[in-house]
Amino acid sequence: MSSAATIRNRAAWTPADLPASNQRFVHASGSPLESLDPATGELVARVRTSTQAEVDEAVGVAREAAKGRWRDDGALRGRVLYRYAQALRADIDRIAELLTREQGKKLFEARAEVMGAANHVEYYAGQARAVHGRAMALGPNVHGVTLREPVGVVAVITPWNWPLTLLTRSLAPALAAGNAVVAKPASLTSAVTVAALAPLADDPELPEGILGCVLGSGAVVGEALVRHPGVEMIAFTGESTTGIDVMKTAADRLKKVSLELGGKSPNVVFADAPMDKALDGAIAAAFSSTGQICTAGSRLVVERSIADEFLERLGERVDGLRVGDGLDPDTDVAPVVSRTQQRQILEYIELGRREGELVRGGEPLRGDAYASGYYVSPAVVRGLPSESRLIQEEIFGPVLAVQVFDDDEEAIALGNGTRFGLAAGLWTNNLQRAWRVGRELEAGTIWINTYNRFYSELEVGGVKESGVGRQQGVVGLEEFTEVKSLNFDFNPTLW
Ligand code: NAD
Repeated sequence: MSSAATIRNRAAWTPADLPASNQRFVHASGSPLESLDPATGELVARVRTSTQAEVDEAVGVAREAAKGRWRDDGALRGRVLYRYAQALRADIDRIAELLTREQGKKLFEARAEVMGAANHVEYYAGQARAVHGRAMALGPNVHGVTLREPVGVVAVITPWNWPLTLLTRSLAPALAAGNAVVAKPASLTSAVTVAALAPLADDPELPEGILGCVLGSGAVVGEALVRHPGVEMIAFTGESTTGIDVMKTAADRLKKVSLELGGKSPNVVFADAPMDKALDGAIAAAFSSTGQICTAGSRLVVERSIADEFLERLGERVDGLRVGDGLDPDTDVAPVVSRTQQRQILEYIELGRREGELVRGGEPLRGDAYASGYYVSPAVVRGLPSESRLIQEEIFGPVLAVQVFDDDEEAIALGNGTRFGLAAGLWTNNLQRAWRVGRELEAGTIWINTYNRFYSELEVGGVKESGVGRQQGVVGLEEFTEVKSLNFDFNPTLW
């Protein structure tokens, strides 16, 4: 691994850094788009955005490719995906450094993200040869067969917070199922997405057009893709309000959608919990990735009998967190992604100060190192009314809102008290309680005595306004297929 200074001194990344052989998968020659380093505010990368003609071109070649050999050759798809997983692992230093420079996250997290992306691709490389239907006897000489067919052209639209794992979580099963994909990353993480897709585009066996990428704003390029008559399915990861708009637009042509949206997840700590483990879990749930995780445990829901002690010990841990540059190995909390995001988070903290008690955070970070980057010190707020925006809205930053309960029923009511339903954490040594409360909490994922653990094999997704459909696992592959039924009647007469 290179030192922070060496990495910072590198010239701004552009698509010209890609091997000449695969630059054609990026359909973008329009106005320039620049990424700034969240740690310093300096230019990191420059790409170009896609014009409407280039969106049409990407979808057009994808449609042709989707009709070809890729659709029916699971062994080919498996080989290509398997080599892609290996290529991501081999290129981890370069991709992770660009990810940290463009998005701001800690280099350790960026490396974990590249590994997570490779794991998703490798898992679905195995699944590519097992996209099967069923056969059944339906009566004397009557047989039914189902086929799982690819949907066609899938638009994969991704956010900036985990741009590579969230990309591969949709892209890999879509490709494994035999679809063609046009990817549209968030503007803030365009360069690292293109760099991470390049090894796949470069595979000698990948048919031309099966992978395309368009770049630009959501309102223009993202919307053009969702509206495009040549796109059959939208796999969207992003904010709930954007996801609702995407679903409305897709409804014009009844397109299939998979929506992975926002959250305001409760992390519920009972008095009988393993306290040290729960403290570590609460810190990691709220502040890892600087709180910019859809499943962040951004609401700590703690039992009253231990609340004061728990918050005192939590506060000591927060005091020990070092805010700094993502390239510095001693950093615990890296900058947030942009100046706009920083301003919004500081406004939420000010609101928390007015509406509740700011237990930690909110103080300005002094020193030259913090002057030009987008830093926020982690904050903990208690005593908020349940209708407070800090309880109800996704802040997407290092801000933990605390709620206190007296019994299981109140814990469940507080846990379910928002429009979101993405994930929840439960900390208890009582198995019966874990089962009962876990069943009552409205969320797609419940972590028990752990938090934010992801496995390619295990489905994730949201209920309520956190999403539609599931990703990862076998169900995550099935989302990218349509079932066709063939009904064979071998009887001599029809009726
Ligand atoms: P966002 O909704 O602003 O943008 C997401 C993507 O959609 C971007 O590529 C954007 O350019 C595009 N987009 C925006 N408007 C569009 C439109 N009208 N039509 C088509 N595309 C459009 O989200 P963000 O700020 O990039 O990411 C943060 C959000 O993502 C948070 O709400 C977070 O919770 C959510 N998220 C959810 C998951 C999950 O798995 N549920 C995972 C990560 C992030």
